[in-house]
Amino acid sequence: MLIESSSNGIGPVCLDSVHYAGSALAAFEELAKSTTIEELLRSAHLMWCGPTCPEDTSCDFLHYSRPTVSSREPRLPQFGYNKDTSHLFAAVGDGGYVPGTATIHEVNAWPILLKVIARADAGHQRNGRLDCDYSDWTTKPHDAPRLQNPDPAVSATRSYRDALQWMAAWCGEHYKASPAALHYVAWAAIPDDLCIPPLDVMRGTFRMFGRSLHSTAADMEAEGWGNDGVLAMLGVVLQYIYQYVEKVDFRPGPDQVGLHTQLNNTAGVWDSIMYHTRGHDAFGCAIAVARNCGVGPHHSDAFVDAAINCGMSMNLAKMALDVYRKDDIQPTAHPTLREERQIAYRSVYLDIIDDQVRRGDHEVLVNFGRSGLAFVQLMERYRERRSGRRIPITPQISAELNQLCGPVPAPHHQSSPSSPACRSASGLSTQTESGHV
Ligand SMILES: [Zn+2]
Repeated sequence: MLIESSSNGIGPVCLDSVHYAGSALAAFEELAKSTTIEELLRSAHLMWCGPTCPEDTSCDFLHYSRPTVSSREPRLPQFGYNKDTSHLFAAVGDGGYVPGTATIHEVNAWPILLKVIARADAGHQRNGRLDCDYSDWTTKPHDAPRLQNPDPAVSATRSYRDALQWMAAWCGEHYKASPAALHYVAWAAIPDDLCIPPLDVMRGTFRMFGRSLHSTAADMEAEGWGNDGVLAMLGVVLQYIYQYVEKVDFRPGPDQVGLHTQLNNTAGVWDSIMYHTRGHDAFGCAIAVARNCGVGPHHSDAFVDAAINCGMSMNLAKMALDVYRKDDIQPTAHPTLREERQIAYRSVYLDIIDDQVRRGDHEVLVNFGRSGLAFVQLMERYRERRSGRRIPITPQISAELNQLCGPVPAPHHQSSPSSPACRSASGLSTQTESGHV
């Protein structure tokens, strides 16, 4: 049923192509010419959809028109937590499962996203940096002051620790078969923790262990990712844009556009679910996992469904373990409809996991979809979220990172939160770690 020991030499894992016909590396180099975040978004979108996209809810770069799933040959039995059993598990909320929950968009994310991006671009043109640049978003509770100038060595090391653990949760003993996939997942891990200006990533001024995202694109090319690499690269670029503007827009005030609020301001949950799916790049990680495990080919809807459910199973586990309450940006948040939205959220998860099995998706992708139920319990990342403090890196993780990335950089002295951190953080990241590679 699988699994090749190496991802080298396998064909495309995703059967559907984007508009852009070049490689991930060529795409990256084209995107890196962008001088504003809006230009970056528009260039990435052009590569995904082509020039005729109407930029409405039919645009699958920001949205997802989910097709009806017809049963094929299931490879797996349904899991214990399913439509027929969910009413027995109150830890993720009462109300069980409601059939027929809508998976249609009610809000066009395009104009809202462009408005926040315009605010960020204007701020950069005025000041060079924004106050929130390189602030730390791992500190909880969310009303605590953000720590400026977090130690880049700590942020990069934690992101690689999380990448190793996620890849193990998704791929088992094959967790590092594809170095490109592992590095890619580390890139997808860090923008949730650190407020990183997307253009710094594209220009290579922000690096981890001295490595740039450009070097990961080059790794993809060397491993023959083809169109899979372009899909993944456009996914992570969109993630960096979403993660950055979400943080720019987080603080209430006259300039706040309300990106999160506007995408949560309906009884339905689909707008919020897709915002979170794109904003965490679970799609690109699903492609990376399939490449790493030599799984496929599948149509893109199998990867999008796996991605949606990966984020949702993570949030269901966070609800059960009381981590979710501490999240800044909750997909079920609403002043009056929170309970209905939680039932809808759970029901969409149960429908999609059922569809993944009925469609006959590969075990690796179905496991990816429900993996949050396990990895939230197993990973230090979520223990850190719950306790609000960092946990030391174990000698075993340190040894793995030493082999994969070079010596783990020693933590630097923490600067004062009032220091002018924004200007120095990206340079520090480069300087601190590049010497170790
Ligand atoms: Zn589009």
